[in-house]
Amino acid sequence: MGEQTTPQVDVIATSSFIPPADVPFETDAGGGQALAEFAGRACYRSWDKPNRRTATNAGYLRHVIEVGHLAVLEHATATLYIRGVSRSVTHELVRHRHLSYSQLSQRHVIADPSFVVPDPVASDEDLADLFSAAAGKTRQAYDELMTGIEQRLSGTEGAARSKRARQAAQTLLPGARGTEIVVTGNLRAWRQVIAAHGSDASDDELRELVITCLERLRGSEPNAFADFVVTDLPDGRRMASSALVTEA
Ligand SMILES: Cc1cc2nc3c(=O)[nH]c(=O)nc-3n(C[C@H](O)[C@H](O)[C@H](O)COP(=O)(O)OP(=O)(O)OC[C@H]3O[C@@H](n4cnc5c(N)ncnc54)[C@H](O)[C@@H]3O)c2cc1C
Repeated sequence: MGEQTTPQVDVIATSSFIPPADVPFETDAGGGQALAEFAGRACYRSWDKPNRRTATNAGYLRHVIEVGHLAVLEHATATLYIRGVSRSVTHELVRHRHLSYSQLSQRHVIADPSFVVPDPVASDEDLADLFSAAAGKTRQAYDELMTGIEQRLSGTEGAARSKRARQAAQTLLPGARGTEIVVTGNLRAWRQVIAAHGSDASDDELRELVITCLERLRGSEPNAFADFVVTDLPDGRRMASSALVTEA
């Protein structure tokens, strides 16, 4: 039975920007960052960049974030493909209403054999053994339930029978079962989620997940997330926060 502790997060889509030919707009970034700057400058037709402090894309987006003109970040989106996280964590993630989700179906796909091991368990041999044994028993019960339900539904057509068996048997699986999810959000919504769950008050797995999301988003849209700081807590865990704004 596979067990894992670190999520895999890939950026699979971001916004592109197509500058209109008749507008004298130029900037030193592309994609969603250029799009957000364009949207902001369009409010004032400030194409000539009169303020030197905001003449770069980084300076402009920093100013946008400082003054809370965050709506311009809503024009740009990023899609992340998240794997190796627990169903428990995605249950919390999907509470955020401004992100869009497509998650692995537990009714159509046989249960992921991997379980995500929480950090305090993974770092202790006895606890890891206890967790592993419990996960193994659950998995075995799942398999037995599948077989038993399929036998009882022998009069039902094959594919429908398996689906009904899976959807019933998966209810037994714990929150630690692995899952995968495609998540799309505009940059403002991603910032809100990172700010909400980057703190020490958040669930450990979710906090690590949003920090990983932050790292990936910074790879494609660094200026929209430059104000976030990742710091080490005394016990070795990490947290992320922005000194510039409180997200709203
Ligand atoms: C540390 C922590 C502990 C938590 N503990 C629990 C818990 O014990 N139990 C529990 O059930 N949940 C818990 N949550 C989840 C939390 O209550 C939220 O459901 C979740 O974080 C989604 O965030 P949000 O409500 O800010 O809205 P989002 O959906 O992320 O929306 C972002 C913002 O848009 C605005 N907005 C969105 N929808 C509306 C609306 N309908 N009306 C008005 N404004 C809106 C709000 O300003 C909101 O903050 C916890 C969250 C955190 C960060």
